[in-house]
Amino acid sequence: MIVMKFGGTSVGSAGSIRAVVELVRARLRRKPLVVVSALAGVTDALESAARAALRGTISVAAIRRRHVDVLRELDLATTLIDPEFRELDEILRGIQLLGELSPRSLDYVMSFGERLAVRILAAFFVKSGITATAIDAYDLGLVTDSGFGRARPLDRAYDRIAEVVLRERRRGLLIVTGYIGKDERGNVTTLGRNGSDYTAAIIGSSLGVEEIQIWTDVNGVMSADPELIPSARSIAELSFDEASEVAYYGAKVLHPATIQPAVSKNIPVRVLNTHAPTEPGTLIIGRARKSDGPVKAIVCKRGITVVSVVSTRMLMQHGFLAKIFDVFDRQRVVIDLVATSEVSVSCTTDSDENLDAAIRELRGFADARVQGRHAIVAAIGSGIREARDVPARFFGALGRERIGAEMISQGATRTNLSALVRESEVSRAVQALHREFFDDDAACVAAAARPASRRKAPLAGVVRRGRS
Ligand code: ASP
Ligand code: MG
Repeated sequence: MIVMKFGGTSVGSAGSIRAVVELVRARLRRKPLVVVSALAGVTDALESAARAALRGTISVAAIRRRHVDVLRELDLATTLIDPEFRELDEILRGIQLLGELSPRSLDYVMSFGERLAVRILAAFFVKSGITATAIDAYDLGLVTDSGFGRARPLDRAYDRIAEVVLRERRRGLLIVTGYIGKDERGNVTTLGRNGSDYTAAIIGSSLGVEEIQIWTDVNGVMSADPELIPSARSIAELSFDEASEVAYYGAKVLHPATIQPAVSKNIPVRVLNTHAPTEPGTLIIGRARKSDGPVKAIVCKRGITVVSVVSTRMLMQHGFLAKIFDVFDRQRVVIDLVATSEVSVSCTTDSDENLDAAIRELRGFADARVQGRHAIVAAIGSGIREARDVPARFFGALGRERIGAEMISQGATRTNLSALVRESEVSRAVQALHREFFDDDAACVAAAARPASRRKAPLAGVVRRGRS
């Protein structure tokens, strides 16, 4: 069995939906279960509709038209979605009437995108000659906590899903909503934006499937943000650790939490492109094959604030670090990098929430300084562990660009070498590092500079590009 998850752009138009049906048809032998996101843009539109209702205006016409257009193009009855729109209208009127939009109502409104998508898709599967049933994930056993906007499955959801799927599969191909669940009281919840990947991983791990396929609109996980690096390429294989690192830095193709349920069951996750299905994409597995170079991706995270705690007196005294982290813990400030010296401890965070309160507390016992507008730039790859020259190349590349690293970190797993730079310099930093570790010319120069006996094969998969 496999799980095939299709994102919003994969079901964004009648054309893509046709492509999806053929992709699934070609894999029927592997007994797929399909997970679907809302049509591209619909979740945002629903959120706006909820906020408009709060301000007194009900406006779902555009959302409705979006779905009706697709239904017409697929030659399906437009009445198919009437029940959902009646229900949506009712809840929006409730929000308007009460003048109140709770996280619970917001989740309820935002759940309609997936609920509409599965119904349209299932109808089109049936029309295309494949017996299929639309099913809302909560009717499949996906019970969550009540953390509206970022709900998490309860432990028993996994067993329950396995049980219900076994029963429901007799009804044909299951087309399941991504992103949503219900809490124990029956309230609709959402798993957080882009949560459909997470749904796919939860279901896949419940069933112990042979593979989870995440169908997107890019050729897998890229070696860098293609907007910054037009020559970025897709990564053939990533270990779960590497993938988590990359996802943590916001690679848009993968929700970080996706990894978790799949990791625990050691289920491979393959990221594929609906619009270029013959591309190999990226395979994410427990232990990835060694890559050709030590570094698989150059990533960055902007909007970083540095907090430096300086104290001459008690810094390295027993319990001092604990005291600092206790403050961050209590104020729920998430820390990324940490660096210590005899006279200072520096930490970075990407949240401003409660940061002021934390600083105030820190100043109660030390001198705390804050600097905003920084960014973390990182090289990811488990090969960093063995390749001894990675730090030299990393800092050499930054140094040649006159970019200073204000903090440096390499964790114990050594799949991540990261540095803190000024936010204004981060694009240049990513470019310099990508050139160093991926660019063919740079690789050849580096290889030529090494003594022949230690020369490694040039980076495979490197496409030669002209320097125009
Ligand atoms: N439709 C939801 C969103 O836009 C979930 C997803 O796309 O995965 O966030
Ligand atoms: Mg999405």
